[in-house]
Amino acid sequence: MVKICCIGAGYVGGPTMAVIALKCPDVEVVVVDISEARIAGWNSERLPIYEPGLDDVVRQCRGRNLFFSTDVQRYVGEADIVFVSVNTPTKTRGLGAGKAADLTYWESAARMIADVSRSDKIVVEKSTVPVKTAEAIEKILAHNGRGVRYQILSNPEFLAEGTAVQDLFVPDRVLIGGRETPEGQAAVKVLKDVYARWVPEDRIITTNLWSAELSKLAANAFLAQRISSVNAISALCEATGADVTEVACSIGKDSRIGPRFLSASVGFGGSCFQKDILNLVYICECYGLPEVADYWRQVIGINDYQKSRFVNRVVSSMFNTVAGKKVAVLGFAFKKDTGDTRETPAIDVCRGLLGDKAVVSIYDPQVTEEQVRRDLAMNKFDWDHPRHLQPVGEPADQPVAVTSDAYEAARDAHAVCILTEWEEFRSLDYRRMYDIMQKPAFVFDGRNIVDAEKLRDIGFIVYAIGKPLDQ
Ligand code: NAD
Repeated sequence: MVKICCIGAGYVGGPTMAVIALKCPDVEVVVVDISEARIAGWNSERLPIYEPGLDDVVRQCRGRNLFFSTDVQRYVGEADIVFVSVNTPTKTRGLGAGKAADLTYWESAARMIADVSRSDKIVVEKSTVPVKTAEAIEKILAHNGRGVRYQILSNPEFLAEGTAVQDLFVPDRVLIGGRETPEGQAAVKVLKDVYARWVPEDRIITTNLWSAELSKLAANAFLAQRISSVNAISALCEATGADVTEVACSIGKDSRIGPRFLSASVGFGGSCFQKDILNLVYICECYGLPEVADYWRQVIGINDYQKSRFVNRVVSSMFNTVAGKKVAVLGFAFKKDTGDTRETPAIDVCRGLLGDKAVVSIYDPQVTEEQVRRDLAMNKFDWDHPRHLQPVGEPADQPVAVTSDAYEAARDAHAVCILTEWEEFRSLDYRRMYDIMQKPAFVFDGRNIVDAEKLRDIGFIVYAIGKPLDQ
């Protein structure tokens, strides 16, 4: 029986390994993590992450050929294939701070693999890492001193949170990069055979190591770029009376452009886009390509601009101040169908509103009060080195309310800001909401999901991204 171990039981490691276990019943899959809370969650009825369809997959394989454990060393030692899916956040201090990937977790995982291995292993980069990371990993592993041989593969993950299970079941592609030596290619074949159980052969792409590592950074940069491009156009729409939905539809019909990822919004979030572009920027700088670095940096610049533009619109529409006014925030997760709030635009928007002394009341179906408080805590933002083109607001010092339904958040509020495109926000009873709000009542739709005309008929003043403004 092939034994797989995955280091890191997070948003990627957990779902990815659950699907491998489901599709390969003859393979033993153990997901290990240093976080006892995470592992306890995976072994409980309430999984530590919310992802549609995941409960069902885990329920089918857990205890059969899928296991979750904190005994990292034991299961890494026993495995034939070790996936490393640890976090690779942006460095916060030292060389490359604010841009470079922090590979501390990766390096400690690699050193641990070297320490505990007694048999040859394939080590798979599942985390998103800077191009050339495999070279560094090879150096660390080469010093295990026991003659154990390793093959490093790059197998970046392209799943999107909120659709992770579907993305894993039917991936657009699986990418495997390996050394071009016979040993490297043999390792590529082993991993390819795992995916080939359910992924059609023509969707499994094999490349050299550096292409695979760079492809993941480039893919995220391109996706984020599309959002920043349409958001940049949305600002021009508002200035001119054009409608961004109509513009996006028109350009998306061009088969060279395509319709997906062209929705204007309050901005992108999530743990990956910003950090991966910053990483790309840093790599370009390191390779002496400052112009290329500047090009990609601007994708983040427009995203920051979009968030501050939204806050400015809220404040200016509400007669230039929100001081003492209750503002209901609907949606705090960075997108629908996830409880993940990492880098969510809601953090900057809420901070901006609080900076103008608004009283903020937040409702999100999957986000806990504890998450909101942690995310809005002062020390998460480096006010001495703001990334923003235009910093939005000051650190939070007022209490923030987190409610268990949208109407409670909106009671006595002057405005509702929709920041996540949860389906349930499309079908709220906006008349009921209007009746319990202060007047004039505003809706600021940061995801363009409500029917603005219907809301105007009720009596709301409505702002939607990239749409003609209320007179
Ligand atoms: P995560 O923070 O949810 O999970 C990482 C886990 O690794 C944590 O539970 C942490 O405790 C564990 N860990 C760290 N060091 C460890 C060690 N030495 N031993 C054992 N466990 C350790 O992160 P994530 O969202 O799953 O992302 C993981 C990687 O995948 C990142 O590089 C990310 O960029 C990439 N990625 C993320 C997504 C996404 O949508 N979240 C998509 C594609 C790729």
